[in-house]
Formats: sequence, C-alpha cells, structure tokens
Amino acid sequence: MIAACMLGGCAATARGARAPDHEERATVVLVSLDGFRWDYLDRGLTPTLTRLAREGVRAEAMVPVFPTKTFPNHYTIVTGRYPAGHGIVGNSFDAPDIVARFSLRDRRAVRNGRFFLAEPIWVAAERQGQRTAPLFWPGSEAEIGGVRPSYALPFDDGMPDSARVSRLLAWLDLPADRRPKFLTLYSSTVDDAGHEFGPDAPETDLAIARTDSVVGALVGGLRGRSRDGEVNLVIVSDHGMAPTGPDRVVWLDDYVSPGAMRVDEVSALLTAWPREGLEDSVYRGLKRAPPIQVYRRADLPARFRLRGSPRIPPIVAIAEEGWTIARGSSTAASRAIARGNHGFDDSLSTMRGIFVAHGPAFRRGLTVPPFRNIHVYPLLAEVLRVAPAPGDGSLDSVRGLLADPGGRRSR
Ligand code: AMP
Ligand code: ZN
Ligand code: ZN
Repeated sequence: MIAACMLGGCAATARGARAPDHEERATVVLVSLDGFRWDYLDRGLTPTLTRLAREGVRAEAMVPVFPTKTFPNHYTIVTGRYPAGHGIVGNSFDAPDIVARFSLRDRRAVRNGRFFLAEPIWVAAERQGQRTAPLFWPGSEAEIGGVRPSYALPFDDGMPDSARVSRLLAWLDLPADRRPKFLTLYSSTVDDAGHEFGPDAPETDLAIARTDSVVGALVGGLRGRSRDGEVNLVIVSDHGMAPTGPDRVVWLDDYVSPGAMRVDEVSALLTAWPREGLEDSVYRGLKRAPPIQVYRRADLPARFRLRGSPRIPPIVAIAEEGWTIARGSSTAASRAIARGNHGFDDSLSTMRGIFVAHGPAFRRGLTVPPFRNIHVYPLLAEVLRVAPAPGDGSLDSVRGLLADPGGRRSR
C-alpha cells in the first residue's frame, strides 16, 4: 500500500477536492538532522548549513520538549503539542488508554494511528487539498485521523542519506498536480556518531561534515532544477547530545531488585511500572541513587508538561547531565556504555538543537534568540497556508521570522 502511494498518489488517502491553486502555494522541505546540537553549527565544519543560516533565519538554538528523545520531539515539531497532548511521550511507553505498548523499533506500533493523539501538519495539509511526502518522519507510516500522506516509505535505517535526498528530489520532479508541497528529510548520522563516540569526538565532527554535504546535495539538486529560489527549507534537530561514559553509571540492580518493576525507557531517563504493591520500595530504592532525580507521577515538575497523560508511568527518574541509568549491577557490569546521550532535562543547554530556515517565505540575514520547538508547527502552517489545529505553540512567537509577517502576499 505504502509503495503504491510512493509511485503516484494514494487511493486510500481521505482527501477533499484538490485545491486548484497548487502552483501558487509554497513548497516546504522540513529537514531533521537527529541529535544535531545547536553549537555544532559553529565548529567550522558546515559550509552549507552556515550559508543557509547566514542568508536566511537562524535561531541561536531550538529548545526541545521533555523527554528529550527522538519520537516525542519529532512529533511535537509537526503538531505543536507537548508530548502529553500528542501522545508520543517517549521512544518506548505503555499506553493503558488503548491497552498497547509503543516502541520505535516495533514496526506495527509505529504504524498504529491510535498512538498518535494529535494530527500532524501533513494531515491538515492533505485535508486542505495539498499532497505531502513526510519521508521517515515519526508518524508518517500511520493513518492518523483517517488520513495518510500521499507519499511515504516504511522507515529504513539502512537507506543512505544520499538516497533519501534523491527520493525527495524525485517527488519534487513530479508533474505539478501530483507534486507534494510539504516534504521531509531525516538523517540520524550525527545522532548515531554522537551516541557512539560522544559529542566532542573527531568521528562526530566527521558525521557533522558529512551531514552538511547531504544538505548540500539537497540544495544542489534544487538549484540544478532551478527550484532553489522557490522552495523553503526548514532545517531542525530534535535535541542535542551530552557526553556520557562508563565512569558515570547508575546500575539499577544496585538499588532495586530486577523483578520489582517493568522498565520502558532506560538511559538518561528511566520510566518504571513497579509490580503491584512495590511502588514504595521501588521509589525508595531509586531515591538512594544520588545522581538521579526520582519522581512519582503526581510529583513530576509542572515544567515537564507531562501531567495528565495516562501514558506517564508511576515512577520517572531522570539522570543528572552526563550520567547513564543502566540495567544490571556494578559487580556484573557487562553492557557497553554510550559516550553520548540525550533524554535529560530539557532546560540543559546540551539538549538544545538547531533551527535554520531559508527561502522566499523567510527573512534574510536574521538571528533570533532560542525558541521552543512547539512554535514550528504554526510557522509551517502559515507558510503552507494551511489552517492549523489549536496547539501549545503560537505564530506570534515566530512571526518575525517571516518575510511577510503581516500577510500571505509573498508566499
Ligand atoms: P534515539 O534513541 O532517541 O536517539 O532515537 C534515534 C533513532 O530513532 C534513530 O537512530 C532511528 O533508528 C530511530 N528512528 C528515527 N526515525 C524513525 C522512524 N520514523 N521510525 C522508526 N525509527 C526511527
Ligand atoms: Zn533524536
Ligand atoms: Zn539519539
């Protein structure tokens, strides 16, 4: 079904009559560079991104939502909702409201629209007559609100970034009546290196440089088609990366007996469902581990915006920056500990990502202070001329980024 969509229009897409003005509407390519920390842009390794930032709009940083993980943040960027509102509260979580468990590695779960409680921008766009192609964006494989994107592919970690760019350019080459107006590109090259080698390692610098050339290939492809003056590029990342290592580990079995709880997420963040009657002892055990903050569901700080969701487990623990929570015990430690991680408190500067926008819809040569990623959705909706669903972000927070902040004449 999805392959058929890719080849030219998805029969199952619930879409209204196509608007006749598709040629006049703006095209937006939303690029996500997973784990691209805000300050990677200043390492002198990114000629293309630096030029786009200089000629377009750049935020000093983009502030993620908690938990600072891939799925929650990607879904916030395309819905403008905090995770409690859009339902994707982690990369792995229990959803008692639909009696199901989610994991980003579970092919059936990522395709199950019932996990996704808010509608992404591509659903609004499709409903309002535009074709979309959210390549590899979390949620893009699911039918949400009865709508699928016109073009999508099953997530394929092994597909080279260069092939992803070619796929996207091929969609942009379609005849105007079938061409998508909203597309996404996703690369995890920088995140992968950041975890394995740490944010300051030469291998991560190499991944940053390679990723810049992937963006360069996209820009070059647009220029070769004389589309570079017409397409709006919005380049973001979901979170940053903090250095971690084997010298700073909380081994869970040193504090709580392994059978006492079920664990969904564990690394920078621990989400735990204690067995019946064991909530107090799990809580007290975890409290003994000094470099982590342990919360019962009801005591989670309001600033995390997680309260009220049935998908939040009874106990959430957050490691101090740079620490790793790991299964097992210090005496029988066998697991390799990553050199970089995210998932920490969203107020940490190491958790911040990037925002760069370039194209006819955006101001030129503007740098703005950091802003939260909840505001990207109303911005995209404005550029795409799509009526946004109500959300947690506001266009007023980012209106100044637009070339024509008061109206829609230039788009
Ligand atoms: P994290 O553990 O938060 O660093 O997640 C990063 C990983 O998420 C990447 O290495 C990808 O393998 C995975 N990922 C990203 N997008 C998707 C997707 N659309 N479907 C499934 N997995 C994904
Ligand atoms: Zn990520
Ligand atoms: Zn990651």
